[in-house]
Order: sequence, then structure tokens, then C-alpha cells
Amino acid sequence: MWKISIRSLVLALTLIGTSHGQSDDGLKVFISVDMEGITGVVSVDDASRGGKDYDYFRQTMTREANAAIEGALAAGATEIVVRDSHGSALNLLPEMLNRNSKLLRDWSEGPMYMMEGIDASFDAAIYIGYHARAGTPNGVLDHTSSGNVTDVSINGLSMPETGYNALMAGYFGVPVVFVAGDKAVCDQAEELLGNVATVAVKEGIGAAALNLHPEVAREQIREGVERALNNLDDYKPYELPAPYTLVLTLKTEQNIYRGSLYPGAKRTGDWELTFVSDDVMEIIKAYVGMRR
Ligand SMILES: [Zn+2]
Repeated sequence: MWKISIRSLVLALTLIGTSHGQSDDGLKVFISVDMEGITGVVSVDDASRGGKDYDYFRQTMTREANAAIEGALAAGATEIVVRDSHGSALNLLPEMLNRNSKLLRDWSEGPMYMMEGIDASFDAAIYIGYHARAGTPNGVLDHTSSGNVTDVSINGLSMPETGYNALMAGYFGVPVVFVAGDKAVCDQAEELLGNVATVAVKEGIGAAALNLHPEVAREQIREGVERALNNLDDYKPYELPAPYTLVLTLKTEQNIYRGSLYPGAKRTGDWELTFVSDDVMEIIKAYVGMRR
């Protein structure tokens, strides 16, 4: 209750005296960067520390983050937070990253993971290097969270990370305006979020992928981010009607059993756990607690 009233107050203050949903203190942009949807990345090895080409692809990842930062700066961004959202969360190369940004590295073990660092003071969220949910046909390195999760749905909608991360942004009144990754995640983002700008940097053919040249991908990301931020009014925070019903399917008996011990969780099938709440953040906390 306290949280909600403070949030409403912050949102109200944010909206007062602005013409484009942009706060008085400038345009604040949150960029979450995953790795599976970066141009050229097609195998687990490409995106794993110790992988033969990992050092190369973390540079591509950093350059793709920079393309988004440059697009945001061209649109007038005054504050940019970049969240390293893959694996160890220690992938982006700090020295190579555009100096007009701050980089959030490592996991705090709080519930927000790929969205950690966002709050109601931001005007827009952007996803770079994202991938489709587990089990997507022609999805490049498709998965949802850890390898334990077969599927997660909220109110009957099967969610890629893009979906529940957008719900977290929406909790703070922040719209997701732009998603880059493979074609499958772009399709899923559009299907779930409605109006969102996307750039597909590659298209899956089974487990293979046809990629744009990295330079072309960066150009499209830079231009796409700038255009989206120049049209902020076209994008709405992603929200679903309460109460929220989370249904999580996991892969092993150990995981299901452990997940069922989360307070309020119910085992509703052989591989299925269900949790209901009126609060988006309680749903996110339950998801994190149940999937471990
Ligand atoms: Zn990842």
C-alpha cells in the first residue's frame, strides 16, 4: 500500500508539466542487454565465458549497446543506465561502452534481475540482444530464464523474458519502446506489447541463423532507437489486469518440489506450479523464488 501510493505520487509528479511523458529532469533511458540475440551469436558457446568466440561476441554485444546509446543520445537522452543482463551479468566491456551511460554489472540477487536499476524516474526501456521464449520454432537460442523453466505464463499469456520484463517496467509506468534480437523475439514482443519498435538482427532456420552484417545491425538499432524515443507518446507501459495468475512449468521433480515450498505456491500439475497475487512485484518475486 505504501509502495503503491509512493509510486502513484512519483508518477503523478513525473507527468506534471511535461508534453511528451518526459520528466522535467530530461529524458532517462534504461537499456537491458542480453547476449543470445546479439548479431552473429548462434550457439551456447558463443555466449559463454570460456567459449572460443566469446571475447569476440562480447565486443559485438558492447557495440550493439553503444548503437542503442547513440540513438538515445540523438533523441536527447540526458541519462542512460545500461543493465548487463546475460549469464554472469559481467559481459559488457566497461571501457568500450559509450561514456554517456552508467553500467550495472553483476546480480544483486534481488528479484528484478534483467530490469534491476529501473524505477519510475525513467521515460523508456529498451531491450538489446533479446531472444524468444523456451520452445519457440526457429528461435535462436530460445529459452526462458534458467534451463529449469519450460514455460511461464501470466494471466494465460505465455511470456518470454521480454514479456515479464516489460511488465516490471510497466509496474513503474515505463513503456518498452524498442526491442532488438532475432526475428522470433521481435514477433513475440509485438504480439504481447502491441506497439513496440523492433529490429530483427537475425532470423532462425532451425538451430541456424541468417544474420545481418554487424554494422548494418548497429545502424538499424541506432536509427530505430532514435525514432522510437522521438515518438514516445506512441508507446504505453505494458500492464495486465489484476489479479495476476502465474503458472510456471519446470523440468525436474526436485525443482517442482522446491518451488512448491514457496509461500503461497500451489502445485497444480505434474510439472506445474501456480501463484496468484494482486501485485505485479509479488508475482515477480514468486517467479524468482519458485524457479530456483
Ligand atoms: Zn542471456
